[in-house]
Amino acid sequence: MAVTLDPQLLDILACPSADHAPLTAGTPDDPDADVLTCTSCGRRYPVRDGIPVLLLDEADGGDSGTGGDSGAGSA
Ligand SMILES: [Zn+2]
Repeated sequence: MAVTLDPQLLDILACPSADHAPLTAGTPDDPDADVLTCTSCGRRYPVRDGIPVLLLDEADGGDSGTGGDSGAGSA
C-alpha cells in the first residue's frame, strides 16, 4: 500500500541526517512501499500508521553509512 502523506507534510519533512534533504514517498524500486526515501543519502524511513518515523536508528539503507548493512548491493 502506498504512502498517502499530505504533500504539504512531505514538503516540510526532511532527512534527520546531516544532509537534511527532502524525502520522497516509496523507494526507487517500489514506489508503493510504506517508506520515505531521502533524496540525498538514500536512507529509508518507515511509515507506521501513516506517521513517518524519521529516526536514524530506524532508517534503513543509505550510502553514507559505514555499517555492515548488506542490503543495498551496488552490482
Ligand atoms: Zn538523508
